[in-house]
Amino acid sequence: VRAPGAATLDASGLLVIPGAVDVHTHVLGALAEDGRAALAGGTTTAATFIDEAPGVAPAEIAERAIAEIPSGPLQLAVHGVVWEPGAHQPRELGRLARLGVTTVKLWLAYEELGIMADDGQLHRIATEAAEEGVTVMAHCENGRIATVLAEELRASGRTGLEQHGRARPIALEAEAVHRFLAICGMAGADAYVVHVTGREPLEEVLRARRAGQRVQAEVCTHHLLFDDGRYEGDDALRFMMTPPLRSPADPPALWDALARGDLGILSSDHSHVPLHPDKTALAGDVTAVPYGVPGVQWRLAVAHTAGVLEGRLSFERLVEVACAEPARALGLFPCKGTSRPGADGDLVLWDPQAVTEVGAATRRDGLDYSPYDGMVLTGGPRVVVSGGEVAVREGEVLGAAGRYLPREAGRRVARAR
Ligand SMILES: [Zn+2]
Repeated sequence: VRAPGAATLDASGLLVIPGAVDVHTHVLGALAEDGRAALAGGTTTAATFIDEAPGVAPAEIAERAIAEIPSGPLQLAVHGVVWEPGAHQPRELGRLARLGVTTVKLWLAYEELGIMADDGQLHRIATEAAEEGVTVMAHCENGRIATVLAEELRASGRTGLEQHGRARPIALEAEAVHRFLAICGMAGADAYVVHVTGREPLEEVLRARRAGQRVQAEVCTHHLLFDDGRYEGDDALRFMMTPPLRSPADPPALWDALARGDLGILSSDHSHVPLHPDKTALAGDVTAVPYGVPGVQWRLAVAHTAGVLEGRLSFERLVEVACAEPARALGLFPCKGTSRPGADGDLVLWDPQAVTEVGAATRRDGLDYSPYDGMVLTGGPRVVVSGGEVAVREGEVLGAAGRYLPREAGRRVARAR
């Protein structure tokens, strides 16, 4: 059956996959540029975390974010963030859920910024989330100890970028994942662990699942690809994110977990922070440099090059972790994440042989660097369709209509506790 006025795209020699879905991005404030980068890489749908606004309730920040979305070219869901856990008001998660914001993130680190949730605050919010059918996400690192380690490094004058791994060791992450999941388990809340970086925190996720908890866990492209050797080199500033890159034994374990299904979701954690002057100005102090790296454009092509072509991941599994499972985690499946009849008109015509070098000529996010600069990637979109419109053709980003994707809370009665 052919719809009247429908266009025909020639996909001979190409793989047709659903528009990709990126659960973890920070694109508000740079929606136009980051959105074009996402589309160029085959990502038509993403979820973005709300930015901080001191003294403003999360639901109000979310409302502003929702109003901003149509100005960009992406289809976007919104994650709430409890930026001020000490000021959290009961029923705030219900307000968020009524806006279609059914995931909320807490910080278990960054005590020095005043955003870290303590155990009591986490317990209260997880309990409320279980009642509202909201999923709790957490940045898992033990923030109290991270503060002490940073103080020790500054006191001894060891603040070079090569200290990044020692400033935030993986045990801080594993401990916080354990505690996060224990507290969500008590509350009966669904949990989502963002950016699992290696074996120890992954073990905590698996332990909680074995105990019957509903836990989703993601890995980010940069943790799959790089290890902490990057902090010894001249380019260390290009790899400043938290949690940090880990030991060389961790990336292979993450690939295995992604292939096996222990990790279900591949995300970019795209962060719009330029190298100059934001990062270079503070490069002398590893405890003060702005963290976060861009990557929304390269998630599929990097995973195709380093995963599929290296035999670590089947192409079908790449589609699962970059499209289908992210859509399920967001509650957007099967409108998103699949190309079956009835799904939204988001498609990628993927050329498994396309070759792209990451660099100023190919980056679309308007930033002055990428941690993937200089890499030659194999596989990329020839055509991207978003919302039924051709958004990218042969490397040219034509754009698409941005729209907000509200979600429904899975409201339920909390487990007995
Ligand atoms: Zn993030």
